[in-house]
This record gives sequence, C-alpha cells and structure tokens, in this order.
Amino acid sequence: MNNSLSCIPDNLRHVRERIARAAEACNRDPGGITLVAVSKTHPAATVRVAHEAGQAAFGENKAQEILKKAPALPGSLEWHFIGHLQSNKVRKVLPWCALIHSVDSLKLARRIDFIADELDLRPRVLLQVNVAGDEAKFGFSPDSLREAMGEILALERLRVDGLMTVPPFRSDPEEVRPSFAALRQLRNELAEATGADMPELSMGMSHDFEHAIAEGATLVRVGSGIFGEREYR
Ligand SMILES: *Cc1c(COP(=O)(O)O)cnc(C)c1O
Repeated sequence: MNNSLSCIPDNLRHVRERIARAAEACNRDPGGITLVAVSKTHPAATVRVAHEAGQAAFGENKAQEILKKAPALPGSLEWHFIGHLQSNKVRKVLPWCALIHSVDSLKLARRIDFIADELDLRPRVLLQVNVAGDEAKFGFSPDSLREAMGEILALERLRVDGLMTVPPFRSDPEEVRPSFAALRQLRNELAEATGADMPELSMGMSHDFEHAIAEGATLVRVGSGIFGEREYR
C-alpha cells in the first residue's frame, strides 16, 4: 500500500474528530452531521480503503466517474452527486445517486423529475444556490430560486431535502462564513414561505467545514482532508 492510501483511515478519524469538536462548540449533536468523502479523481481502490475504514457516503462531481466506480464497489456505499449534472447524463447516473446536492437550474430539476418518472424513482435532491453571486459558479441566485420554488416543489417525483452552496474560495475561512449563514437564512425563509420541510444544508469543505457546522451544515463535503491533494490529469 502506498503512503497516501495508508493515511486514509487516520485522516478520516481526524476529520471526524474535527466535526465532533465543531458540533460540540455550538451545542449540536455530531450525529446530525453527515460526512461526505469527496472521492473525485481518486480510483475505486482508494474509495474502497475509505469504505473499509467505516466511511459510507462518497461525493463525485462527474457522471463518468460515478459510472466507473459505483459498479466496481459494494452496494453498502452511498453515492452523492455534487457537481454540475448535464441533462443528457441524468438517466444513467440517477439510479446510483443517494442524494444529488447540485440541482442548479429549473431545467435540470424538470429533467430529473421526468427521468425519475420513467425509471420509477423518488430521488432526494438539494438545490444549489450561488449565495455570493459568484459568476464562475453554477446555481440559482437567491431571487431565481424564490421564483422557481413553487414549480420545483410541484414536481411529483423530486424529494427536495434542502439547499447546497459552494462559496468562492477564500484562504481565510472566516470570510466565507456569511455565505453559510446566508444559505441557512434562505432555507429558513423558503421553508416558512412554502411549508416544505428542508432539513439539509450541504456546505463546508476541507478548509472551512467548522465554520459551516457553526452555521448549521448537516452535510459537509471533504475531499483533500481525507484523500490528500488531488492530481488532475
Ligand atoms: C471537490 C469538491 C469538494 C471537496 O473539496 P476539498 O477542498 O478537497 O475538501 C467539495 N464540494 C464540491 C462541490 C467539490 O467539487
């Protein structure tokens, strides 16, 4: 086993400890926070090591990667889609996904609903919001989501469980905290306005998840903190 693989169980333990400490610091139950191990770019063998160390939920941002890894690994893994999902990939990917974090347009929401009907599925989804108004990021603006919410909730197959955000990178994680707070406030506002129960907030990555937990994150997406730095080829 090479060095980076042998570090994974320790890295996982360390991340879990950080989650527990962050939860305790704000009087939250650590059991209410799900760690999603972001395994993008890493092969199935690496995912297997993390799974054998007790990790269940894995995040991927490309359809091809889920389609390659998921069939090669045990059914006890849970796959979370966290990237921009193209309409023409929905049919293939949907049966593998426990949760799609990144429904970033009304068009995609309609498409997932349509395919779910065809495949007789009831997919759990989160709506991705670009709270910081970052041009480079996918997602609803808060206003476009307010406008689309009625139609999205009327889609019969979708289970809309909450919101997700990917704030712009800041080297000082304290600076992204207002984005996390804004996502929570938007969720509260939409839940109040529509009566929908949207318990999940997917926010926080390796360098800033403590701040996300302090603002109410229920799903944190951690990649490099578990698997080490990614190499893109
Ligand atoms: C890659 C990725 C992550 C994980 O980022 P790290 O900094 O490696 O923890 C989280 N969320 C999304 C949407 C990603 O694409």
